[in-house]
Amino acid sequence: MPNKLMVVIPCYNEEEVLHETARRLTVKMETLTEAGLCDASSRVLLVDDGSRDRTWEIIQSLHRENPLFEGLRLSRNRGHQNALLAGLMTARDHCDVSISMDADLQDDMDAMDRFLLAYREGCDIVYGVRNKRDTDTFFKRQSALAFYRLMKGLGVDITYNHADYRLMSRRALQALGEFREVNLFLRGLAPLVGFQSDTVYYDRSERFAGESKYPFKKMLAFAIDGITSFSVKPLRLITTLGLVIFVISLAMLIYTLISFIVGKTVIGWTSTLASIWMIGGIQLLSLGVIGEYIGKIYNETKRRPRFIIDRYLNGEGADPVRDQ
Ligand code: UDP
Ligand code: MG
Repeated sequence: MPNKLMVVIPCYNEEEVLHETARRLTVKMETLTEAGLCDASSRVLLVDDGSRDRTWEIIQSLHRENPLFEGLRLSRNRGHQNALLAGLMTARDHCDVSISMDADLQDDMDAMDRFLLAYREGCDIVYGVRNKRDTDTFFKRQSALAFYRLMKGLGVDITYNHADYRLMSRRALQALGEFREVNLFLRGLAPLVGFQSDTVYYDRSERFAGESKYPFKKMLAFAIDGITSFSVKPLRLITTLGLVIFVISLAMLIYTLISFIVGKTVIGWTSTLASIWMIGGIQLLSLGVIGEYIGKIYNETKRRPRFIIDRYLNGEGADPVRDQ
C-alpha cells in the first residue's frame, strides 16, 4: 500500500508552541519512516489560519530549514474547521493518507503508529479518541459530555470524545471533498463518509504553551453549529411543543367557559400574567431555533468559498488548490 503521509496541523497564533511541535514531529516522522509505517517522502502541512503573531514567519523558516515542513497560508482567519479543511483538501492532492492534529501537542503523537497500522489493515478512517479528560477543566469536561449526549439524543452519529485527531485515506478525503456544506463540523461529516473505520485510544495532555483558541463563546457556537448542521430534531421538538400547548389551551378554553357559565369568574391576574410570559418565551425561543436554521440555509445558498489560499510552500512551486 503506498503511504505518503501528510500530517495536517491548523495553527492560529501558535508562535509559542510551533518550534516544539516541529521538533517533536521531526523525530516522530523519522521513527515512523524507519518502522516502515510511512514513506520517506511524507510531509507535515502547517496551515496558518490568518495568525496575527509570528506563526507564518516560523512556518516559513521551518520550511526553509527542512523540506519535511510545508506551509499553507489562508487569506484570513477562517476558524479551526475551515483551516483544517483547507489543509485536508491540499493533502488530498499530495498524499496517500493524512492525519490531522492540533498544534498545541495535546494529542499524543505516539498514537500515530496505531493509526497507520489500522490504515495498513485496510481502514480508511481512524478516529483518535481520548481516554480521559482530566487535563481539561471540570466545566469543559461536563459541557463536552452534555454536548455528546445531546447529539446522540438528537440522532447524530459522532464518536464520543473524538476531536479532530483523525487519519483519513486519500479516497476518504476525496469523498469528504464531495460534501459541499459551508457550515463545517468535520467530526460529524467523517462518519457520513463511511468506509471501514477504527478507533485508537490515547491520553490527551495539557496544552504545551499558549492558551486555548476556543473560549466559551466559540465553543458554544461550535456546539450549536454541530447540532443544527446535522439534526432537524429541534424543529420537530417545536412542533411537538406547539401541539402540547394547543391541547392544554383547549382544556383551558373549556375550563374558562364552564367557569363563565357557572358564574364564578375571578380576575385571574397571576394565571394571565404567567401564561403571557410563558407563551411569549416559548414563542421567542422557537423563533430563535427556526432562525438558526434559516441562517444556515442563507449561508449555504450563498455558496461562498470555505477558504481562500494565499500561499502554499511545498518545494514544488505547485499551484495552490482551490475550493471548488
Ligand atoms: N485554530 C485555528 N483557527 C482558529 C482557532 C484555532 O486554526 O480560529 C487551531 C489552533 O491553532 C489549534 C487547533 O485549532 O491547533 C485547536 O485549537 P485549541 O487547541 O485552541 O482548542 P482546544 O484544544 O482548547 O479546544
Ligand atoms: Mg488544544
